[in-house]
Amino acid sequence: MHSSVSALPGLQDAQGRSYPYLRLSITDLCNFRCNYCLPEGCLDHHHHEALTIDEIRRLITAFAALGVQKVRLTGGEPTLRQDFTGIVRTIKQVPGIRKLAMTTNGYKMDQRVDGWLAAGIDAINVSVDSLDPRAFELITGHNRLREVMAGIERAFAGGLSAIKVNAVAMKGWNDTELDAFLTWIQHHPVSIRFIELMQTGTNQAFFQQHHVSGKTIQTLLLERGWVRKVRQVDAGPALEYCHSDYVGTVGLIMPYSRDFCNDCNRLRVTSLGQLQLCLFAESGIDLRGLLQSDDQYGELVATIRSALVHKEDGHFLGQGWAGGTQNLAQIGG
Ligand code: SAM
Ligand code: SF4
Repeated sequence: MHSSVSALPGLQDAQGRSYPYLRLSITDLCNFRCNYCLPEGCLDHHHHEALTIDEIRRLITAFAALGVQKVRLTGGEPTLRQDFTGIVRTIKQVPGIRKLAMTTNGYKMDQRVDGWLAAGIDAINVSVDSLDPRAFELITGHNRLREVMAGIERAFAGGLSAIKVNAVAMKGWNDTELDAFLTWIQHHPVSIRFIELMQTGTNQAFFQQHHVSGKTIQTLLLERGWVRKVRQVDAGPALEYCHSDYVGTVGLIMPYSRDFCNDCNRLRVTSLGQLQLCLFAESGIDLRGLLQSDDQYGELVATIRSALVHKEDGHFLGQGWAGGTQNLAQIGG
């Protein structure tokens, strides 16, 4: 194992964008059936072939040497890995990694979050598409809103000072809930990120029916006195808004807006070890072959660096092209 992070120049692409942030999918398996993602449930997955802890350690060691400081574990549902806390502990030991975040659907979070935090998780994004239990069940296929909300409370009690909540904005499903979400965050340090529904290979009809522009929410927020916050260097893609009457904040993720890709600072690796230069890339670059031994470190670093040359300026979602992405569970949203 490479115990020290060599002072390599950080990753940069042809546009001069740098990459301090890696999203790593640790499984493509999911137990929910979100109507915009896996409406039929998870029929096809490679859970048992996902990267092992040793492969993950080598991967993160190489990315950290190239300047990655923040890692987010995602999926599928990352907490379905039996060795989830072992993965967390391993990544936390990699020199150079300052922040380890995760994205979860909140399944059994009320019982499990203490263990995630004890292993070293620094930040949690929880998906809550509706605050109405019935709508939550219809969207996700699970009557678990109460469990997820209890999990969020438990995470605060366990010492997290802030939590991000992801809600995919969908016409006809949750577009009347802005006030309910705002009331919730008035006294809770929750950052709600309203995510514009994205078109993927398998949700085209759903997308046509339910997509709503984040600009609608942006207009409402501005009318009510919300103001834009300054962006942090390792921040995600959200435009953040705050208001003096609210403890929480609102983030808007608008992949269809013209400038969305300008600030792109993240790379993705799938649970099978494919480096994805964009959420909507046509295909990935296989790194798994270079994760088999610590001796491959030099070749791994060189491969990642040269891959960045091929990163596009932006995606082509606006033209209806979602690349090879069938659903976001497959690649890690
Ligand atoms: N299963 C975990 C969860 O749901 O939080 C992590 C993986 S999920 C793919 C990550 C995020 O992507 C979730 O917040 C989910 O709502 C979002 N997502 C999935 N499909 C999407 C789509 N088509 N458009 C926008 N967001 C999507
Ligand atoms: Fe599973 Fe997350 Fe997709 Fe919902 S959004 S089906 S929880 S991967």
